[in-house]
Amino acid sequence: MSRVKKRVGVDLNLPRIDIDLAKIAHNARQLKKLYGAKGINIIGVTKVIGGNSIIADVLVQNGIEILADSRIANIIKMRRAGIRGQYLLLRTPALSQVQEVVIHAHISLNSELEVLKKLSEYALKNHIIHKVVLMVELGDLREGIMPSEMDAIVKAVLKLKGLALVGIGTNLACFGGISPDADKMNQLSSIAMCLEEKFKITLAMVSGGNSANYKWFTSSKDVGRINSLRLGESIFLGREALCRKPIPGLFTDIFTLLAEVIEAKRKPSQPYGEVYQNANGDTPKFENKGLMDRAVLAIGTQDVIVSGITPKQKITVLGASSDHMLIDNTETSLKVGDTVAFDLNYSALLRTFSTPCITKNMINQYECASIL
Ligand SMILES: *Cc1c(COP(=O)(O)O)cnc(C)c1O
Repeated sequence: MSRVKKRVGVDLNLPRIDIDLAKIAHNARQLKKLYGAKGINIIGVTKVIGGNSIIADVLVQNGIEILADSRIANIIKMRRAGIRGQYLLLRTPALSQVQEVVIHAHISLNSELEVLKKLSEYALKNHIIHKVVLMVELGDLREGIMPSEMDAIVKAVLKLKGLALVGIGTNLACFGGISPDADKMNQLSSIAMCLEEKFKITLAMVSGGNSANYKWFTSSKDVGRINSLRLGESIFLGREALCRKPIPGLFTDIFTLLAEVIEAKRKPSQPYGEVYQNANGDTPKFENKGLMDRAVLAIGTQDVIVSGITPKQKITVLGASSDHMLIDNTETSLKVGDTVAFDLNYSALLRTFSTPCITKNMINQYECASIL
């Protein structure tokens, strides 16, 4: 197919997010190489890109063998699009979704015996062996089995037909902001070794965490039994997730959000009249800075998390309601029809991909294809 033909029908409507596929390919390959050097396999986490199948395909084409998502609907979407790979469900399956999980995910992370029993039941019914990883609580206090209960649960799981216990894992730095440091990783390694010894099993996957594990990884000579990490933010934003520092050699500018100016006028800087609540339920206070060049952008709180985006131009975001964003236009003098570009953090990116209101525009797909 010719290049021109492929571009036909490309939707460049605003607001829009430009997605550089060649940079995603680069980050995936670099991270695979980096972590692979100490025997750690990386799983590509697709939840922040809403299971977008074009992006998922880039990961698979660049050596990521397992794709993980917290939502079964995203996994179904990627599989229906024909993206090959092993699919792992990150969020402990809901009892109401167990049948879908068994059918569509090859592996799931688990922390409840009741759910595991149901997974076993449906796996047997469908003549499938469903792989399970047991999550261990190490202090972040989101999902996970308390270490003292691991033995009992493993014993029970090993008796469940239709399930294969393939590993254990932990998740830190998500709810409690707890660092996956050497101490936590050593704990996970010892739990793995004790279970292997006690039950005469081999745990093929010991999954130490997420993008927050970078600091531990780079400062550890010996990663113990940890042989897997589940990475989203590092691939897509090029950053570690403890201090949000860029990872050397990775792109941090894969995504650019663009919004259009629909009004540009000189107005007072302070709202005038009697002050009550605004659209967001806040009673805002604005400093009086005299007259100001202001602009309105056609994007709002239903499209983005306003606090999670950073303008690339010299403007200041003054605030937003559901469909309008106000900016201080003094330094840039943008006109109606101009566009403003923003960088996004993880939460803002997540929101962008979960709304149909923002056009997804893939760039550099040809360069990407030529690298493959
Ligand atoms: C979201 C998630 C990840 C990926 O986290 P990143 O910080 O984006 O790397 C890993 N594991 C679990 C269980 C998750 O929910």
